[in-house]
Amino acid sequence: MDLIAVRRALIDWYDREARGLPWRAPPGSAGRPDPYRVWLSEVMLQQTTTAHAAPYYAAFTKRWPTVGDLAAAEDGEVMAAWAGLGYYARARNLLACARAVARDHGGVFPDSEAGLLALPGVGAYTAAAVAAIAFDQAANVVDGNVERVMARLFAVQTPVPAARPELRRLAARFVTDERPGDWAQALMDLGATVCRPKSPLCDRCPVAFACQGLATGAPERFPVKTAKAERPRRMGHAYVLTDDQGRVALVRRPGKGLLGGMLGLPTSEWSAEPVPTPPIPADWRLAGAIEHVFTHFSLDLRVHTATGTGEFLWAPIDEARTGLPTVFRKALDRALAQQD
Ligand code: SF4
Repeated sequence: MDLIAVRRALIDWYDREARGLPWRAPPGSAGRPDPYRVWLSEVMLQQTTTAHAAPYYAAFTKRWPTVGDLAAAEDGEVMAAWAGLGYYARARNLLACARAVARDHGGVFPDSEAGLLALPGVGAYTAAAVAAIAFDQAANVVDGNVERVMARLFAVQTPVPAARPELRRLAARFVTDERPGDWAQALMDLGATVCRPKSPLCDRCPVAFACQGLATGAPERFPVKTAKAERPRRMGHAYVLTDDQGRVALVRRPGKGLLGGMLGLPTSEWSAEPVPTPPIPADWRLAGAIEHVFTHFSLDLRVHTATGTGEFLWAPIDEARTGLPTVFRKALDRALAQQD
C-alpha cells in the first residue's frame, strides 16, 4: 500500500471536511487547542457521542474554564454536572487528574505521551490523543474507529480481539512528524462519518483507492469477528411412564456425569444417533419433542408416553414437575400437554 498517498488523501479530505467540534482547532491552524479542553473532551467522548457530549463540554468549560478551576471544585458539584454522562468512576478520575495537574505540574498538562500516561485515570488512548491533538506529537491514537479503518484498509483476516496488536502496528505505520494531530483527527473523522461500522460510505471515502477491504467487495465484513463456536447437537429419547394413580416413573441418574445423582425420567443415551431404549415394553407413543440447551451441547429430546407398572421411583406427577431438573420438566410437560 502506498502509505504516503493514503496519508495525503486523508489529510486533504480533512482539510476540506473536518467536523467543526467545539474542542477543536481548525485543520492546519498554527495555534494548538488547549490541552485541558482536549483532555476533557476525550474523557467525555469515551462513553458517548459528540452530539451528547457537546452540551456537557460547554457547561464544564463555562463553569471551570481552566484545569485549576476544575481542580478546586467540590467533588459533589462535579459529580452533579457529570450526571447524564454515566460511568461515575470517570468523573472521579477526572477530578483526580485535574488535581494532580494543578498540584504536581503547576496547572500545566505534561506535553509528552509518557508524562500524560503518568497522570491518574489517564489511559493509553487518552494519553496518545492529548499528545497528538494538543501537542502535535507523533502519537499513535488507536480507538475502535481507527481499528475498524485499519482492518478494512488492509483487509485484516485475523479476528478481533486477537487482531488488536496487528491493527495498532498498522496504524503506527501512518504516524509521522507531519501534522500528527490532524492525522489523528482525520482518522477519527473518517471512522465516525464515512467508514461507519455497519454501512461504510465507500463511494465518499478519500482512501477508497487503496482500500483492500473494499476490493474484497464486502468491506463491512471487517474487522472480522471471532465466530462463536456452535454448540454440538445431541439427540435422545425420554420416556414418560404413568400409572393409574396419577404417578410418573422416575429414575435416579448415575452419580457422575450430567445431572449426576438427580431424579429424572428414564432416557436413552444422548448422542448423535441414539438407539431408543424404552424402560419397559409398552404401547409407547410419541408425544413430541423438546429442545434443551446445556452449557456444552444442545439436546433434542423425543418424548414418548405410555401407561404401565414396574420397578421405578414413582412420584405424583405434580410433585415430580416441581422437583425435576428443567430438561425433564419440559419433557413431562410435553407429555402432559399431549394427554390434555
Ligand atoms: Fe472504509 Fe470503505 Fe473507505 Fe475502505 S473504502 S476505508 S471500507 S469507507
